[in-house]
Amino acid sequence: MDCIFCKIAAGEIPAKKLYEDEHAVAFADINPKAPVHLLIIPRQHIASLAEVGASEEEKTLVGHLHGIANELARRQNLGNGYRIVINTGPDGGQTVDHLHLHLLGGRAMHWPPG
Ligand code: AMP
Ligand code: ZN
Repeated sequence: MDCIFCKIAAGEIPAKKLYEDEHAVAFADINPKAPVHLLIIPRQHIASLAEVGASEEEKTLVGHLHGIANELARRQNLGNGYRIVINTGPDGGQTVDHLHLHLLGGRAMHWPPG
């Protein structure tokens, strides 16, 4: 599978990792859009949120990813708030086809996003 995020999870491509466990990895976005811009991904290759099935295991995994984002926001001192984004599919602006949460913070976000 030629997937850049699978390779980052496997340690085959370098990334600034801030968190790892059995199911997930978090690392710094290479092209940050905010003072704090981290990506949280499952180790398992799931192409997008639209591919997440109805199984309890996959739903638990998506919840786990959000829990990690929240914990990382705490560690990054984002007490004033932050934004979680999951771009999904072409219209959602997804460019890497491996499910990932963006954790953005350290500045005020705009609404609506572009
Ligand atoms: P999306 O457009 O939602 O699919 O987000 C993909 C994100 O992955 C973008 O913010 C990219 O900057 C980021 N990205 C792409 N390649 C890498 C990489 N090798 N290391 C870290 N972040 C990356
Ligand atoms: Zn992958």
